[in-house]
Amino acid sequence: MPEALCIGELLIDFVSTTPDVTLAEAPGFVKAPGGAPANVAVGLAKLGVDAGFIGKVGADAFGDFLRETLQQNSVDTAHLIAGETSRTTLAFVATRSDGMKDITFYRHPGADIQLSPDEIDRRYIQSAELFHYGSVSLSHSPSREATIAAIRAAKAGRARLSYDPNVRLMLWDDAADAKRWIWEVMPYADVVKISDEEWEFVTGDVDLKQGIKRILELGVKLLVVTLGERGCYYTNGFADGFVDGFIVNVVDTLGAGDAFVAAMLTQLRQYMDLTALERDQLDPIMRYANAAGALATQKVGVIPSLPTPSEIDSFL
Ligand code: ADP
Repeated sequence: MPEALCIGELLIDFVSTTPDVTLAEAPGFVKAPGGAPANVAVGLAKLGVDAGFIGKVGADAFGDFLRETLQQNSVDTAHLIAGETSRTTLAFVATRSDGMKDITFYRHPGADIQLSPDEIDRRYIQSAELFHYGSVSLSHSPSREATIAAIRAAKAGRARLSYDPNVRLMLWDDAADAKRWIWEVMPYADVVKISDEEWEFVTGDVDLKQGIKRILELGVKLLVVTLGERGCYYTNGFADGFVDGFIVNVVDTLGAGDAFVAAMLTQLRQYMDLTALERDQLDPIMRYANAAGALATQKVGVIPSLPTPSEIDSFL
């Protein structure tokens, strides 16, 4: 049984072959595996963690490609289901030079949202020590109910729970609904990572203070706000700080947040009580995660750019 499990979307990103264009301008696209929780699973595996992925693809060539990709990266796919009723979800992506992404999803419906609660293996989940989830799988039923059932199973087991809301408003029928479900699963998390671009939508707070208070009051032990090239801010309610990012020449920012999460989670494994960590323990962890995020911007595509421990060590 894998030590770490990630649940959520696994899909094909068709990434523009030309940088700094809109989707309408993009002349062509390259096929790449995508889906934030799946990226985190690969990120963990590349860092030496025994990781598995729970989700659904279609019983089609793209689904086969995604399964093979996870397997080639040593991610357990025993609970990646190939659904017969819908096709593997697709996303078309163009990234502008300012880091903003232009994305269109083909998911009406896609296989990823067809994962159902009766396909969740609670025993598999309860044996995990780390469980990571997002909010994209909450946007539609039945994957919403499946995700919540899995989160509850992880919480009833011995896992540390990690949550990256990863807001993708275009996937929701309405923004208020997105906000409601994003908050619904917040109290289960031990570690929450939110990017600065998502902060205002999630917390309704331009300033950090009120939002932090609200999240920590739910029982979240460690909250990290990633700030792109500026690094990150963290707080466990006891210690907090900003940790500068690294200056690099960016090739493609896709997956930086997923690399950051995977690297941070591997470093946190050595500590039982996240609320007791002090700055001199958290600063180097966040620096390590910033390095992983920076490295993820150095290659085209997410999975090839997720770093190994030796790549992070030599970068540092
Ligand atoms: P997301 O990818 O989820 O939108 P961010 O853009 O905040 O999240 O990136 C996550 C982390 O990756 C940052 O905290 C930082 O450490 C690193 N990172 C992202 N963009 C850059 C960049 N342009 N230069 C250096 N590091 C970066």
